[in-house]
Amino acid sequence: MKKTVDYKKNSNKILLKDRLDRKFYIEAKPNELFSSILNRNHIPLDAVIVRRNGEVIDDWLMRYSPKDNYIIEMVRAYHLPDFLSLLRLWDTNIYQQPIKADDQAYYTRRHFLHDSQNGDYKSTQSTFNKQDFVAYIENLFADGVKRETLIDENEHISLAISGGRDSLALGYLLNNTKESLPSFSVTSIHVSTFSKEKETSFAAEIAQKFGYSHRNISDSEVRNVFNFKIPTYEVMEKVKYDYNKAYSIGTAHAIMRGVVEYYSKVNGINKIAFGLMCEDIVTSILKSKFIGSPFLGPFKRKWGEFELIYPLWSITKKELTLYLEAIVPEHNTQGSPTQFDRGALDRDIYYLLADTLTTIFPGSAYQLFKGHQKETEYHNISLDYKQCENCQSTFNDSYKVDSNMHVDDSLCDLCKLLEKMNLIK
Ligand SMILES: [Zn+2]
Repeated sequence: MKKTVDYKKNSNKILLKDRLDRKFYIEAKPNELFSSILNRNHIPLDAVIVRRNGEVIDDWLMRYSPKDNYIIEMVRAYHLPDFLSLLRLWDTNIYQQPIKADDQAYYTRRHFLHDSQNGDYKSTQSTFNKQDFVAYIENLFADGVKRETLIDENEHISLAISGGRDSLALGYLLNNTKESLPSFSVTSIHVSTFSKEKETSFAAEIAQKFGYSHRNISDSEVRNVFNFKIPTYEVMEKVKYDYNKAYSIGTAHAIMRGVVEYYSKVNGINKIAFGLMCEDIVTSILKSKFIGSPFLGPFKRKWGEFELIYPLWSITKKELTLYLEAIVPEHNTQGSPTQFDRGALDRDIYYLLADTLTTIFPGSAYQLFKGHQKETEYHNISLDYKQCENCQSTFNDSYKVDSNMHVDDSLCDLCKLLEKMNLIK
């Protein structure tokens, strides 16, 4: 391998020595925190130690001073500088693939493909102009739906439609690829309680445009499903103040899911499509691993008497956004999240992990999905699905068997909480 030094040493460059004794120089600003220098250069804090005039210092707390001599040493031998250069997190001449400057380029999709021949990954990329990108996303979507047989011939599905970017993109993609999908009909279900007026009208507009039979669920209908004593909005406020933000987003999602299940059942539909896209599913898998709650799937999952499908699984949020921008820029809007949507640290951790994973390991989501599918389908984890006595929505608490949490068979998690707060009749 070629030994590469990109920068001339001067007083504001810090030497990084890797385990092959190659030297790289990192820029530092006087008085800058070392943690920030390392983070800015994508050097994981746990991959290095920092010495000042030969002595190890606390790289989380200490600041850089041009008077001293510093050296960053890697604690493990792997090709971090090469890899960071390959990912373009570092701009060095280690990897200088010829870059075709193309004024029309709209998006480049990158993949590290696993080569079973030599057991290693191979880095690939394809660049699209706007028109090719639209065709590519539509193919990707239709292939993803067919390969995992998410929709059967002549099926009637319900579509949970919030009117936000994800469900709109799902509406457009289902419509724009219908020639290459099995034939199906759609009942769209919108729970207006959690949407802005604009989203509610987008949802209705899309439904009309694509000939869906549309249900706009009013707040009193939501109240009836859950037997709320007070308006849904006030229930959410109470959950938010008496518990915390993590509960509040979970509550909003549980209410929406419960209502969509309820009205699907009323219409005799047992397949429900949700607008979860690639990173949402990565996040759900990661979270399920970290906290030990089951997430089956990942492309579709049995859910009591329902089957939930995630047709957007192959497409990232960025790709959805670019797709809408290319075909209907007037619908490509996403307001700030509502106060119930903000979530807590929990949400930030998993989304940053998911985004970081695909940044440093392009295309890894597909491998994660396939691996997860093998694990959950082949290992045949059986789960006991129950129906909540209050809201009728589906839940399972199989994973709580050995927690010391009180397990009540009759109510879903949300209704247990609401009952405790005396909010349901
Ligand atoms: Zn319930």
